[in-house]
Amino acid sequence: MPLELPTSLSPSKVSSFTDCALAFRFSAIDRLPDPPTVATVKGSLVHAALERLMLLAPSERSPEAAVTCLADARASLDTDPEWVELALDEAGEAELLAEADVLVRRYFDIEDPSAVTPIGLELRMEVELDGLTLRGIIDRLELDADGELVVTDYKTGRAPKEAFEQSRLGGVHFYAFLCERLLGRRPSRVQLLYLSDPVAITTTPSEQSIRQLERKVRAIWSAIERACDRDDFRPKQSRLCGWCAFQTYCPAFGGDPSEARAVAAQLQAPDRGATPSTPSTQSAAQATDGAPVAVHLASAG
Ligand code: SF4
Repeated sequence: MPLELPTSLSPSKVSSFTDCALAFRFSAIDRLPDPPTVATVKGSLVHAALERLMLLAPSERSPEAAVTCLADARASLDTDPEWVELALDEAGEAELLAEADVLVRRYFDIEDPSAVTPIGLELRMEVELDGLTLRGIIDRLELDADGELVVTDYKTGRAPKEAFEQSRLGGVHFYAFLCERLLGRRPSRVQLLYLSDPVAITTTPSEQSIRQLERKVRAIWSAIERACDRDDFRPKQSRLCGWCAFQTYCPAFGGDPSEARAVAAQLQAPDRGATPSTPSTQSAAQATDGAPVAVHLASAG
């Protein structure tokens, strides 16, 4: 029986399908929850702290203010489902917070936040492409000194080696495509800020890169449609298996994928409520509703 298609594509779904089609199926089609990890919760916490920092007046965006923003973000986590599920002991929490503190301070080694003019934070964008919905959440959309759009994505993992830089830029090219379609303007720059290293990887979107992204998204969607039609999602082993939450169901590790479907059906049964899948920290923009946020370019400068 054909599988139900996912309702949309996002940069994370595109890379999930490319990395391993079977893991994509478990997550995007069976909708099995991906349990929170220290790394994902730390990432959400640092993103929330930097979002708060950008809401301050430019002259107030100091390292000390960033540390206060981190403390505020941590305080808002007490009832967060992912934080609760992570259930860290005192030492584990102290370690996570110390690492988040280092990342937030290293941000200042990459750029001067007082020179940033954000016009959108945690910005939800959504466009239709021939009936396919493309969605993304941009960490930060800003205007540069010439009034051009810049897309920034914070990364809390390690920066890739030079040979892999282009492949890591796929997500920000996706955001550039969303900006062009939704706002009618192509960003002049897209950048990944790797806080841990700390280093920025930057590129300039072009007509060619946008069209390439569009072709890639269409090709991946066709491959997903074919895989759903044939119920044929294959495992692709890589170093990512070490972090995969679905190893139990993976035939490459002796598991049975049909068990995943049974577990998913149980979790999604009406008396169990919806699939437990929620972002760990909600931004001010996200908290209002799930709809795309309007960006007023005219008033932003
Ligand atoms: S364990 Fe590896 S091969 Fe199996 S589903 Fe996960 S990522 Fe894919």
